[in-house]
Amino acid sequence: MKRGIIVETKSALEIKDLRKSFGSKNVLNGVNIEVYRGEIIGYIGPNGAGKSTTVKLILGLLEDYDGEIKVLGENIKNSDGSYKKRIGYVPEVADVYESLTAKEYLTFIGQLYGMEYDDIDKKAKELMEVFNVGESYNSRLSNFSKGMKQKVMIIASILHNPDILFWDEPLSGLDANIIMIVKELLEELASKGKTIFYSSHIMDVVEKISDRIILINEGTVIADGTFEELKLQINEGSLENIFNELTGFSMHKETAKKIISIVEGEV
Ligand code: ADP
Ligand code: MG
Repeated sequence: MKRGIIVETKSALEIKDLRKSFGSKNVLNGVNIEVYRGEIIGYIGPNGAGKSTTVKLILGLLEDYDGEIKVLGENIKNSDGSYKKRIGYVPEVADVYESLTAKEYLTFIGQLYGMEYDDIDKKAKELMEVFNVGESYNSRLSNFSKGMKQKVMIIASILHNPDILFWDEPLSGLDANIIMIVKELLEELASKGKTIFYSSHIMDVVEKISDRIILINEGTVIADGTFEELKLQINEGSLENIFNELTGFSMHKETAKKIISIVEGEV
């Protein structure tokens, strides 16, 4: 454990033999995951592997699955939904209400989580300032850049001080400076016993922030361990292709040369 803190041995997330299909298409084929409180998990896999489907099932946004999902010890099938108040979520596709201002959006979300309006307003404004977008607090989201929207989504996910964060491709569109802040932020949250489940198809940030990486491919977990442990397995050959894809090593010189030759070639 990097930070030298005591991780509670209590489970934050338990997924057993999770299966999900859309029509005849099997998307999750028996996923098993156990996450403890205070862990930062990188949930990594190529596009189409089933990451967002897993997260949406955990959040109750998708239904009809086989297997078991427990969040903070509670089986979500038997839950009245109150567990959702302890979750923060950054969705992969930010369908934010573009006609709202950041203030309107964040106070709306905060109220859904049961917070007092003045409390949300104060915290949201302060967080916007920390993320360098304070001057846009009263601007409409339709005027925000992709990176600015991502910041608002991140703020919306932490505003109610949740116990578990589910971030689905959260850092697309953010600049390096903010990524460093986010990295520190996640470490601070984890040291307070919060759990972070960070889903992405690119390894770059995940490798730096995760205590543990869970690799998923074609709806099955194919590796689970620290980045160093995963690298050892790669040297043994078993994960090479998938790992290359995730880290971008497969963007070979040959491909680049081929592109040039096509561009330069005679028709
Ligand atoms: P990831 O987030 O890892 O890129 P997803 O979980 O979004 O992958 O998708 C996994 C697979 O499930 C993909 O092949 C995708 O096309 C399919 N899929 C996702 N959602 C639906 C849906 N609502 N209906 C049909 N197929 C879906
Ligand atoms: Mg996805």
